[in-house]
Amino acid sequence: MKIKWSFLGSFMLFNVVLMAQTSYIHCGQLFDGEQMTRQKTVVVYKNTITGIEDGFTPGNDTIKVYDFKESTVLPGLMDMHIHIEHESNPKRYEEGFRENEADVALKASQYCERTLMAGFTTVRDLGGTGVNVSLQKAIARGFIPGPRIFTAEKALATTGGHADPSNGLKKDLMGDPGPKEGVINSPEEARQAVRQRYKNGADCIKITATGGVLSVAKDGQGPQFTIEEVKAVVEAANDYGFVTAAHAHGVEGMKRAIIGGIHSIEHGTKMNEEVMDLMIKHGTYLVPTISAGKFVEEKAKIPGFYPAVIVPKALEIGPLIQETCGKAYRRGVKIAFGTDAGVSRHGDNAREFEFMVEAGIPPLDALKMATKHAADLMRVSDYLGHIKKGYVADIVAVKDDPLDNISTMNEVVFVMKEGVVYKQN
Ligand SMILES: [Zn+2]
Repeated sequence: MKIKWSFLGSFMLFNVVLMAQTSYIHCGQLFDGEQMTRQKTVVVYKNTITGIEDGFTPGNDTIKVYDFKESTVLPGLMDMHIHIEHESNPKRYEEGFRENEADVALKASQYCERTLMAGFTTVRDLGGTGVNVSLQKAIARGFIPGPRIFTAEKALATTGGHADPSNGLKKDLMGDPGPKEGVINSPEEARQAVRQRYKNGADCIKITATGGVLSVAKDGQGPQFTIEEVKAVVEAANDYGFVTAAHAHGVEGMKRAIIGGIHSIEHGTKMNEEVMDLMIKHGTYLVPTISAGKFVEEKAKIPGFYPAVIVPKALEIGPLIQETCGKAYRRGVKIAFGTDAGVSRHGDNAREFEFMVEAGIPPLDALKMATKHAADLMRVSDYLGHIKKGYVADIVAVKDDPLDNISTMNEVVFVMKEGVVYKQN
């Protein structure tokens, strides 16, 4: 009798546990990554979306119901350009001399949490020191809350280029960074640098195809890679299935990157129609980062916020990004959502939606850029970026209807990542 009871008891307990792992999300509006529909129930079992039902399916004692009948439910948002390790501030350039890796990691753990709470369940980290790989692992193992991170580890540059870590240092501190440190000067070194990134734990590759605003160097837009070097990067990256991204402000560097086979142009500031057509021909994505343009333009006006060599570059390049983004959209360039958070504040990622709409992009398309198109760029569209049966349960809700009021993307009231609820207002 005792045995029978305990068997029955554990059977019932097993069933309760099983049922408790099912939840229903009642959606007044549901954006599934493609279109907006009304009055749906999303069924989640453990970490997976197992169904979408019409209307509001009632729950019971064992099925948890999340009520968003007055709100809009969307796939977890995806930001294709951030730097998780740091955040801009006037002391940023000396922090590199004062902070150990543990300091960087502990500080960045709050950036991870802020990003997730803003509804971004997946990000692509486009360059840091290697702490980004540790943060990625810590989040994946559940040690700290944060988004799923795809990381480039260290961005690749040529000598003196935008991601050369020794730019602006005095000669005895400069050293001679090479492929191991992400600095290359030939196709051979380019391959070596990509393989080193693979070894260091990267899952994508970033190059600095032109000068950049925030490096301590004069040129902000000239080309910094040869076509042969770009091709070598892409070839080596393809061996590992890595998606490649190129930071680029000027036309010549963009052309070389696109012809060399790079998958996305980041910023794209001075892109002209010739470059746009080249991108359409090659299927290259643009990741605009309007947020970064606005941020550097604003901060460059504050004396001492940036070193003097950066100020004129920020004032010239900052204001152009939004306009270029609108033009590229109208010409038919594929666009994926990206902010360059780390330049701008982590957790403010959703402001990019407002900037995109201001640039003339319809709200529904802006939402697709942060879900469907971002997943397509990262080649993860078979499990992320959509609310569909069989997809990972990354689900967020915002207060209002983003098609009427895009600013509501800043009012994320619910965050579920892989079936675990991290935020519920
Ligand atoms: Zn960046």
